[in-house]
Amino acid sequence: MTKKSSNQKIPKKPSLSPAMTRFPSPIIQPSVPLSDEEKIEIITDRFRDIMEVLGLDIHHQSLERTPERIARMYVKEIFSGLNPQNFPKISFFDEEFHHEHKASMVFVKVGFTSFCEHHFVPMSGHAYVAYIPKDKLIGLSKIPRIVRFFSKRPQLQERLTAQIADCLAILLGIEDVAVSMIAQHYCVVARGIEDESSHAVTTVLRGQFNTDTAIREEFFDAINRQKQG
Ligand SMILES: [Zn+2]
Repeated sequence: MTKKSSNQKIPKKPSLSPAMTRFPSPIIQPSVPLSDEEKIEIITDRFRDIMEVLGLDIHHQSLERTPERIARMYVKEIFSGLNPQNFPKISFFDEEFHHEHKASMVFVKVGFTSFCEHHFVPMSGHAYVAYIPKDKLIGLSKIPRIVRFFSKRPQLQERLTAQIADCLAILLGIEDVAVSMIAQHYCVVARGIEDESSHAVTTVLRGQFNTDTAIREEFFDAINRQKQG
């Protein structure tokens, strides 16, 4: 098990779009963006070339539609988070309950699948997301949507963790955010060292999660309870 924890230095230059965050993916936005259908057509052609180079019979009835199927899956599903227009609609509500009851953190466990940007194969596992509300709460179902949005890109687990934390900080106008992700990387399972048991853990602790020992422990206790349950 590899463990990476960072008390992040937040870069100075704030670009406060929740779909971009201060830890942006290496994405180039062309001046004239391609439509989804144009992307699917181009990727279909290029993927057919790859299959042909590998020696596959691209006219075999089982393979014939694979290039288009892959292109559509890339654009519409597993890499749909590259398009900022697919960022989920977010609803907020006032956090009266938390004020009245002096409750501390909101904690959510989310299953996720993303794709390693070095090999384009899946990494999958769980994200543990927590924040301490100030003025507003985010709908609980929105946190899994945010995790999914950033997961649907070629990713680095470290960046994915930082993006989810920063997105919540931006949306809620808070600094007290914690995200821990544990994932199995199929580039490690299926190739390279072929180690099926290895998991990578990445953690971002900000604000009080970083400075207050009791709050940090509450977060890790919640994770351990989830793992056992
Ligand atoms: Zn990889």
